[in-house]
Amino acid sequence: MSARILDGKAIAAAIESEVASAVQDLEKRLGLTPRLCVVLVGENPASQVYVRNKARAAGRVGIRSEIIRLPETSCTADVRRQVEALDADSDVDGILVQLPLPRDVDEAEVMGRLDADKDVDGLTAVNMGRLLLGTNPWAPCTPAGVMEILRRSDIPVEGKKVTIVGRSNIVGKPLALLMLRAHATVTLCHTRTANLEEETRRADILVAAAGRTALLGARHISPGTTVIDIGINRVTSRQEAENFFAGNPRRLEQFERNGSALVGDVHPAEAQECAGAITPVPGGVGPLTVAMLLLNTVDAARRRRTAARR
Ligand code: NDP
Repeated sequence: MSARILDGKAIAAAIESEVASAVQDLEKRLGLTPRLCVVLVGENPASQVYVRNKARAAGRVGIRSEIIRLPETSCTADVRRQVEALDADSDVDGILVQLPLPRDVDEAEVMGRLDADKDVDGLTAVNMGRLLLGTNPWAPCTPAGVMEILRRSDIPVEGKKVTIVGRSNIVGKPLALLMLRAHATVTLCHTRTANLEEETRRADILVAAAGRTALLGARHISPGTTVIDIGINRVTSRQEAENFFAGNPRRLEQFERNGSALVGDVHPAEAQECAGAITPVPGGVGPLTVAMLLLNTVDAARRRRTAARR
């Protein structure tokens, strides 16, 4: 059996074109162009790439975007002041504080200052509470992207057994709430789970969000399972690449050319053989995370600015 590939890039492109139309509509009806501000503190190389991708995507759909860079040496008060200034600026619709923050900056303190109605990543305590109660205007981008991939790929969630490996605040926990709202029966796994294999094999939909290269392989996946791989890990060992990309000469060639490759939390060659459907890494959940940020930003702009006119 060869798993169906759930093409995140194509789904994200479709969402981007819907967002572009929504931006044009806002401009026509209300004379406003949504504005997104991304706060980047320090020099984390992965964060720099993510932030650049978000700003580029915003540009493609007509959202005004700005990256506000603060030095690695910034203290909590510096970042808090920046967030408060953006909260107070009525021309700013969406604020995203790129995580992780440098070690010396208190994340809870900074996020606690962020206006929930501009929190387009949906990660403030207020928006997490709203998510729990089902009154959230939008959802955190990566979990929302997972739900969108399933919806647009006609993979039903209602009544299904969903196992999520990973219980972080930004991925596992909010995704569990979204799955629950969509009427799935949800199991959340973590490092203390007694028998991971038993839990994952029960799943109709298996989500990997552990940040461990190829943690889940053939023995974790029952035949026909839908596998959503959120993990992003860089592999530099040739031996590992040969194992992960067995039967996929194109990816092996890419590895040879670049000296490294991205692999998720699921063993790609093994999952390809036993899963029913799978999101690739890269090109699966990643593009959706960005697309959902754009969608959330337009939604935030529409809600805040129409409320202001009432
Ligand atoms: P965290 O490190 O915050 O959380 C990892 C979770 O996985 C923890 O709950 C941890 O358990 C669990 N875990 C780790 N190892 C194991 C194991 N061996 N068995 C069972 N559970 C395990 O990671 P994030 O949630 O922030 O990110 C997860 C992955 O998703 C990363 O690779 C990250 O790069 C990627 N990511 C991708 C995005 C995208 O757009 N595609 C967006 C966000 C993240 P415990 O709680 O017990 O420690």
